[in-house]
Amino acid sequence: MAGMPQTITMPKPLPAPNSDFYELAETLPPEELAVVKQVRTFMEAKVAPIITKYWVEDAFPFELLPTIQELNIGGAGLKGYGCRGGSGLLAGLIAMEMARVDTSIATFFGVHSGLAMSSIYFGGSEEQKKKWLPPMARFEKIGCFGLTEPLVGSGASGGLTTTAKREGDTWVINGQKRWIGNAPWCDVAIIWARDLADNQVKGFIVENKSTPGFRVEKIQNKIALKVVQNGEITMENCRVPEENRLQEDKSFRDTARVLRGTRYFVGWEATGCAMGAYENALKYAQERLQFGRPIGSFQLVQDLLAKMLANVTASQCLVARTAQLEAEGKLTDAHAALSKAFCTAKCRETVAWAREVCGGNGIVADYKVGRFFADAEALYSYEGTYQMQNLIVGKAVTGLSAFL
Ligand SMILES: Cc1cc2nc3c(=O)[nH]c(=O)nc-3n(C[C@H](O)[C@H](O)[C@H](O)COP(=O)(O)OP(=O)(O)OC[C@H]3O[C@@H](n4cnc5c(N)ncnc54)[C@H](O)[C@@H]3O)c2cc1C
Repeated sequence: MAGMPQTITMPKPLPAPNSDFYELAETLPPEELAVVKQVRTFMEAKVAPIITKYWVEDAFPFELLPTIQELNIGGAGLKGYGCRGGSGLLAGLIAMEMARVDTSIATFFGVHSGLAMSSIYFGGSEEQKKKWLPPMARFEKIGCFGLTEPLVGSGASGGLTTTAKREGDTWVINGQKRWIGNAPWCDVAIIWARDLADNQVKGFIVENKSTPGFRVEKIQNKIALKVVQNGEITMENCRVPEENRLQEDKSFRDTARVLRGTRYFVGWEATGCAMGAYENALKYAQERLQFGRPIGSFQLVQDLLAKMLANVTASQCLVARTAQLEAEGKLTDAHAALSKAFCTAKCRETVAWAREVCGGNGIVADYKVGRFFADAEALYSYEGTYQMQNLIVGKAVTGLSAFL
């Protein structure tokens, strides 16, 4: 109307995607919260802008290592020996925050700081811990964990074919390992082998760059966790000194103790992977227009988003409880297995819904969701498949073992 001031109504700003719906961050102790923020800043500022390129090229971003060193998170959850220390909750949150941006970086960290360092932390003598853990905590020496073999995966507890034979103060190791993360380029391999004398599994610290007879071939053409370099290791008469045998480890039970901690860790990783997929899909749904409206305004798309958020939130609550059990010294193999199985299964479902929300762009790496989608497949199978975790849970609740 002539003469009347015109009021322009601006569209209400849409809420920023946030996968912390039940405000888990609010419950964190200040130290944990500060580290989570530090890791989030690192992941968003340094990793997010470059990681898709590395993922597409099947390459590891060595350029990030100096900044990872500065974060001072090596050996999170482990005490002394130059390790970061802190709680199991802290270690879990770091994994979750990393996976929220990139699951490969979380896996690199899990293999080095979780699998390799904990093997020495739990199974090493005082001398071994003092020698190996400080440079590993500083990321000066990077580790890998060699358990799986080309012909022995789920059955590793009873059937390792890699052998170790003692000759005086030296062990002679023969055999092959497959899928070993970081192996093509790292410095220290924890190799699990069956002692020919007593048939028990023992752990060895092998300096892979300088041990004659130790060979690694990079596994090519992976469709998941492409940034992580996985290797197939061949050991032919590798001679390892007795001082490099993990002195406290007596049998596969000791290997399983390491796996309990790292399966706990994978529950957190899967939760982070689902968070990342959800947040990226939500952002896409707010921006992508069809029929003249954001696709996020359609009921069926909102249904997918609500189901994704429910999976994320349930997983967060579950892993937070496993951290409490861990802190109370009550985390059992079955607790860790249930968490690994549930969170990876829900992650797999969530990333598939996220992919669906993004339509065709969901299969293009540049839109990020495709990367989470593919990477979730590896989480579901590594560190013990979904079926293996459920067999561990099944044995605990029935009292009956279904393992062969
Ligand atoms: C990306 C990636 C990274 C990895 N990193 C490492 C690493 O750093 N170090 C390392 O040691 N290993 C690593 N692994 C190996 C991983 O732990 C194994 O892939 C996993 O344990 C499964 O073994 P497998 O692939 O040989 O499958 P298999 O054991 O051959 O299983 C194939 C299928 O059969 C099912 N199955 C097997 N036995 C049973 C049963 N009794 N009942 C019911 N179902 C059964 C399994 O659940 C699975 O679905 C990695 C794997 C991947 C994919």
